[in-house]
Amino acid sequence: MIKAITGTKDILPIDIPKWRYLENTVISTMTRFNYKEIRTPVFEETSLFARGIGEATDIVSKEMYTFIDRSGTSVTLKPEMTAGVVRAFIEHSLDKKQSLNKLFYISPMFRQERPQAGRYRQFHQFGAEALGSNDPILDAEIIIIAYDIFKQLGLKNLSVKINSLGVPESREKYKNILREYLDKYFNDLTAESRKRFDTNILRIFDSKEGQDQKIMENAPLLIEHLDTESLEHFEKVKQALLSAHVPFEIDPKLVRGLDYYTHTTFEIVSGSVGSQSALCGGGRYNLLVKELGGGDVPGVGFASGIERVLLACENEKSFSLSEEKIDLYIVTLDKELNGFSYTTAIELRRHGITVELDYLSRSVKAQMREANKLNARFVLMVGGEEFKQNQILLKNMANGEQINFEKSDMNKIISLLKEN
Ligand code: ATP
Ligand code: MG
Repeated sequence: MIKAITGTKDILPIDIPKWRYLENTVISTMTRFNYKEIRTPVFEETSLFARGIGEATDIVSKEMYTFIDRSGTSVTLKPEMTAGVVRAFIEHSLDKKQSLNKLFYISPMFRQERPQAGRYRQFHQFGAEALGSNDPILDAEIIIIAYDIFKQLGLKNLSVKINSLGVPESREKYKNILREYLDKYFNDLTAESRKRFDTNILRIFDSKEGQDQKIMENAPLLIEHLDTESLEHFEKVKQALLSAHVPFEIDPKLVRGLDYYTHTTFEIVSGSVGSQSALCGGGRYNLLVKELGGGDVPGVGFASGIERVLLACENEKSFSLSEEKIDLYIVTLDKELNGFSYTTAIELRRHGITVELDYLSRSVKAQMREANKLNARFVLMVGGEEFKQNQILLKNMANGEQINFEKSDMNKIISLLKEN
């Protein structure tokens, strides 16, 4: 038997209502903040991610699904959305039509990592990118959007962690200070961190290994070496979060080690999902558009993993959905009337009513059972003595009330179903 590929997951009909609920929450929140949806291709030229995300990152160095297609081009299934959005932004000169572009997305992503709870190889993200302004209000807005979506989903056990990576000049100076400090402990670092020492020294803060963490405990912090411009920017972000009543903590060790990140970085973590606890991450990337061949356009954004958010919702029982219902089930008493029932179903559906009927020539009893199973609000009985007198019987399943209709009088049935 052929099974789904390791790390991928079927989303079965029974799971769809909660996915839709989350997606609708995302869409309505984004719409209220005036973010417009963008959809980019599932695969892109590999070089876009190599340049956009950075060769030294985990994503590019070991997680990408990359293959050579039949025309010899190296393509990659998107591991994240920012690079693709920025590519589209540049390719379509979106900044010529609109000086600030506020965009959002909901999309599958692909990373070849070790599957575990909250970590898959095909997973889904929603997120936002605001391109065209360096205003710290937008850094805060991005955080507020993510926070508001989680709150609307009923999540409680949240912490918002923020940090500033400043501008490249002060960061470069700081990296030398960090290098000097780590030089003394170089041989005690894990192999992975020793590699990062040269490629991306800030990322050593990200290490999950106790051996590294112990050394990093006393490391000098970037936030203590920021220039005034960066500190002012950070201060304004904090003020904006405070005035929006978003509780946050400053985590000076939170680095998202990409060179194009500037100023704000943040993560929202849930205490309800075990070790894969980051529900979202994001930050400001004022150098990325230029890096990918566009103009000097600042940007800020976030991405959130849907599977992880839904896991947190489930663990907290943060929302409950009402049972699915249909408006009407048509029970056909005589097989000869199947044609009439089917035509009636089509007509009612065309009037916006959700209708189901029997396709398996089942007994009346089995049809009634099916109507109950589907939570039909009404049942229409077609056949028997009534039908011979041109009547059909409509039964209200909530109160047992029964009403007879002329079988030609569909409009009355339609109005009654729509009223209730
Ligand atoms: P992590 O530290 O968990 O690997 P990350 O830094 O790689 O996260 P980002 O690239 O910032 O994550 O992606 C944003 C969000 O997407 C994460 O916070 C998480 O919710 C989700 N995410 C990332 N990788 C996966 C995955 N393999 N499976 C499911 N969700 C994921
Ligand atoms: Mg990761």
